[in-house]
Amino acid sequence: MCGIVGYIGNRQAYPVILKGLKRLEYRGYDSAGIALLQEGQLAVHKKQGKVADLEELVAGKRVQANIGIGHTRWATHGAPNDINAHPHLSGDGKLAIVHNGIIENYASIKKDLIQKGHRFLGDTDSEVIAHFIEEIKRQNQCALEEAIRLVLKRIVGAYVIVILDCDNPGELIAVRKGSPLVIGIGKGEHFLASDASPIIEYTQEVVYVNDYEIAIVRPDELVLKNSSNEVQTPYIQKLDMELASIEKDGYDYFMQKEIFEQPQRIFDSLRGRLNAQKGRLTLGGLHQYMDAFIQANRMVILACGTSWHAGLVAEYMIEKMARIPVEVEYASEFRYRDPIINKGDVILAISQSGETADTLVAIEEAKEKGAVVFGVCNVVGASIPRVSHAGAYTHAGPEIGVASTKAFTAQLTVLVQIAIKVGYEKGTLSPSQYFNLLHALEQIPDKVAEVLKKDQEIKEIARKYEGYKDFLFLGRGYNFPVALEGALKLKEVSYIHAEGYPAAEMKHGPIALVEESLPVVFIATRDAHYSKIVSNIQEVKARNGKVIAVVNEGDDTLRELVDDVIAVPETEEALAPLVNVIPLQLLAYHIGVLKNLDVDKPRNLAKSVTVE
Ligand code: GLU
Repeated sequence: MCGIVGYIGNRQAYPVILKGLKRLEYRGYDSAGIALLQEGQLAVHKKQGKVADLEELVAGKRVQANIGIGHTRWATHGAPNDINAHPHLSGDGKLAIVHNGIIENYASIKKDLIQKGHRFLGDTDSEVIAHFIEEIKRQNQCALEEAIRLVLKRIVGAYVIVILDCDNPGELIAVRKGSPLVIGIGKGEHFLASDASPIIEYTQEVVYVNDYEIAIVRPDELVLKNSSNEVQTPYIQKLDMELASIEKDGYDYFMQKEIFEQPQRIFDSLRGRLNAQKGRLTLGGLHQYMDAFIQANRMVILACGTSWHAGLVAEYMIEKMARIPVEVEYASEFRYRDPIINKGDVILAISQSGETADTLVAIEEAKEKGAVVFGVCNVVGASIPRVSHAGAYTHAGPEIGVASTKAFTAQLTVLVQIAIKVGYEKGTLSPSQYFNLLHALEQIPDKVAEVLKKDQEIKEIARKYEGYKDFLFLGRGYNFPVALEGALKLKEVSYIHAEGYPAAEMKHGPIALVEESLPVVFIATRDAHYSKIVSNIQEVKARNGKVIAVVNEGDDTLRELVDDVIAVPETEEALAPLVNVIPLQLLAYHIGVLKNLDVDKPRNLAKSVTVE
């Protein structure tokens, strides 16, 4: 959600910032803008639409500058138009800011500033920041840094703000609370960005700025201060990311590349952890908190979107293998209903970006109440891993497609390892069950690769169904969350209305929708519910519904019964979601592409949802 890029150094800032904004496009946005400091004057260019539209606007203009800031906006306050696009200027035009997040109390500050004579051009909460800093600086006759510090005491909300000021031409000042900010360290230059992708081609050395810190960024110097104005030693980390991982690499779309990467990414999420031959499963982060898991009276899983579906699968896994009662909560709901958390509860927070605002705030709440918080995230160094007591990273690599695919299967891979490990240590999983699961888990990357070979077959099915307006996805047990995820993928990338349900629930409502124009996707692989789901399929067929079924190879009964089948390899019931979700991802992908949609950047969606 929203991207920020800043540059200060010897290079031309414009191309660095523009390229950086393009790298951040995947996060989702609706307008883009840039401010450059040219011979003591600010030049601001901004435009609704894509970064390419901004580029067109700027073409032919003078862009020479060694310092600048850029922004892609995901509108929260005010329409996505040219005026509301960032950067925003102070009243005297001498100070430019870009902002990611929301200033919750902007309205009262704005009212106050208007009374003092400030005039606002747009409707954003962000524009208020530029005027507020200007006002405080003037009132207190203080330096910019001090004015910023005073402003931060007065604003409520979540933010990264980067400030470029004509009166302080040798520095950029950046602050954060609740939104991500990375600073890349070069030789005589610094790069600022919302994540590492705009930085990776220039330097591997980065500093992740912490909440409430102020970063004063000069070409040769990075000064970090905490809220009490004490200088902090920046913790420099080496990026573990390759440029190729954020490029399409010959694929048409990132989503396609990421679907096809899954055998490798699942393998990566097992590597160094699983050794089936030796019967070993090691999750570093879990070790220290194993007693808390074993003794937990209950576990609460907090997540949003696709991660919430991974959480639902984990609920089935953990309850079955470790016999711990699990609740899966939407982080946004959990937080606001004064949740009952007891000491000794274990919270599992799942988030691809590790920045999901709803999840982050819910964690803080749970920590305060004495729970142990374990994070399962993909982005190293992100906020959730940093505030959790412990955690395990998914090794999906950077996920650029907004609709999550490989991050989901990497999450499942980590979650099932947690369930198996805790179950085994607790004694609720017998040694033979444990060994079976480890062996089955080891084979998952190959099984996923098998499913990917069905790509063309699935594309043909997509061709048959791309014109339909509504879909139903049904599954039971472990495959119920898979049905939800299949429906979500289709919604996200094809804009077709789709709903997921537990198959048995169909009779309690959704069956009313069944007719010839409603394709129903059943996840009907062999498991404890198989015969029941076959009956559900019969019920749909009896009402002329169209059925696409994901079945196990060799299942001829269903092949005869349904309209289309996609056969996938069989595995342990608990691991089936890892295999069964693949055809649903491909189905959604192909339908989206056939409908000429940009499956990488579905409308209105943002990748990393950093606002509540
Ligand atoms: N709340 C700000 C706006 O609507 C910033 C949104 C963003 O994070 O892009 O302009």
